[in-house]
Amino acid sequence: MASSEWREELTDGFHLVVDALKLNGLDTIYGVAGIPITDLARLAQAEGMRYFGFRHEQSAGHAASIAGYLTQKPGICLTVSGPGFLNGLVALANATTNGFPMILLSGSSDRAIVDLQQGDYEELDQLNAAKPFAKAAFRINNPEDIGLGVARAIRAALSGRPGGVYLDLTAKVLGAALDLETARKSLIKVVDPSPLQPPSPSSVIRALNLLKKAKRPLIILGKGAAYAQADEEIRTFIESTGIPFLPMSMAKGILPDTHPLCSAAARSHVIGQADVVILIGARLNWLLSHGKKPLWSETTQYVQIDIQAMEMDSNRPIQAPVVGDIKSSVQAFLEALESQNVQVSREWLEGIAQKKQKNIEKMAARLNADVSPMNFSTALRAIREVLADKPDVYVVNEGANTLDFARNIIDMSQPRKRLDTGTWGIMGIGMGYAAAAAVESGSSVVAIEGDSAFGFDGMEIETLCRYHLPVVSVVFNNGGIYRGDPEGSAPSPTGLLADARYDKLIEAFGGKGYFVRDPMSLSTALEEALESRQPALINCVIDKTAGTESGHIQGLNPKSALHK
Ligand code: ADP
Ligand code: MG
Repeated sequence: MASSEWREELTDGFHLVVDALKLNGLDTIYGVAGIPITDLARLAQAEGMRYFGFRHEQSAGHAASIAGYLTQKPGICLTVSGPGFLNGLVALANATTNGFPMILLSGSSDRAIVDLQQGDYEELDQLNAAKPFAKAAFRINNPEDIGLGVARAIRAALSGRPGGVYLDLTAKVLGAALDLETARKSLIKVVDPSPLQPPSPSSVIRALNLLKKAKRPLIILGKGAAYAQADEEIRTFIESTGIPFLPMSMAKGILPDTHPLCSAAARSHVIGQADVVILIGARLNWLLSHGKKPLWSETTQYVQIDIQAMEMDSNRPIQAPVVGDIKSSVQAFLEALESQNVQVSREWLEGIAQKKQKNIEKMAARLNADVSPMNFSTALRAIREVLADKPDVYVVNEGANTLDFARNIIDMSQPRKRLDTGTWGIMGIGMGYAAAAAVESGSSVVAIEGDSAFGFDGMEIETLCRYHLPVVSVVFNNGGIYRGDPEGSAPSPTGLLADARYDKLIEAFGGKGYFVRDPMSLSTALEEALESRQPALINCVIDKTAGTESGHIQGLNPKSALHK
């Protein structure tokens, strides 16, 4: 047999990983190339997968995780061993915390050397390091197990509550040969990786019976509801019952923020007064004050729809747990609803309407104030007006005050269009989320960034420019974390360079930079940048004194017992 014929009968680990991903419809990789996965990235691209190379693994990982959230397919992040893997871990942990499906694929060095701690290049026991931060972690030690390893990772990422999965690819496995026949047989196309999980009929009846007694019911929509893509079912349930709803930040847009039943502008009022709350894909964690006083009443009763049974009773007793996927559960509610009678009291709705009206007027006064320099409100008014007739545009948002103000001021009218710091309160997601939103949707993205938040991943503007992604970053530049230092003082722990020219950074990579100081120039710049569909950065200078310490969550800073 000629040697070339003999080789045709063989494949290797690199090919098998690519084959396994493609077989399962995974066609996009976000990563940073290097030893030992460079050839894997090259091969994936050559075999028709989309490969997006980032400047830091954390950003690549965030991109993968939000791609997972948007598509209901695990986002793939590819990293080198050791430090590159560790850089990706923050994104993996963030994905797990938020319930985003992603797979971190990292190359790793020689097991024998790592286990005897003989000091290999980028040596690290990656599998064990990943475990506390992942929903599941696996290592593939044989080339014939690649198909199985990828299948297990996909199922782990997508089933039940989604999360981050680590898949360790040893250099040895990647380079190992396998005969084609065995290789072909080893691949697995995963069947139904996120099966619908209809709730038990009795749990639905229990929930509707509780609802029947309610006079002041409230629905809280979380990002689990957005992820579930049950938009029609949720809209029908809300509109046919007439129950007011409150969207958590990433659930904004499942129904438009301008919907008459949206109670976001009366948040504390509805939370404090509701007698029965239906949580749909939202956890009673810190973002909802754990369901505790003073925001909540002690007598509130809960229906909670969640796919994760263990979530029930985690912060407050749940009188009517409904364990199931949101689509099936809301459908089941709709089917059983006919004979039930949901009574939303007139006073409840009128009270909410009054509260909303008052708060909307208060906000309007802040938005329309004629102040110079601009502050958060007046700058966001300009952005809000530009985005008002562009519902397709994705909004990525991070920072402290920049996050709090933008969440309240920028209305959303389509589901899954608002991507932000989420459950973990993480900074540095901006450019990764923005890149992946543009890649996965083809739509434009506006990333509204605090100047500190932007600093964590600002170098990724080179990535955005390299791939010509239609992302406009608006950096709210007040010269500091929370706010800027006083003129002439030495840098404080929260200070950043005053008058930094972030706009010039993007010009170094061929993108378009804008420097704006007033709402009019901001809206002109944003219109123009969005129109161009090219990467742009708007350095939006706002009042250095604008911004409060820690934004809306100042209370989380510990207070010294000495000063009590
Ligand atoms: P938010 O921060 O917006 O309140 P959370 O991330 O706290 O949202 O909550 C999302 C919840 O949604 C999680 O408890 C998760 O288990 C749940 N979840 C995610 N996907 C689904 C689904 N398809 N069906 C049911 N529950 C889901
Ligand atoms: Mg700042």
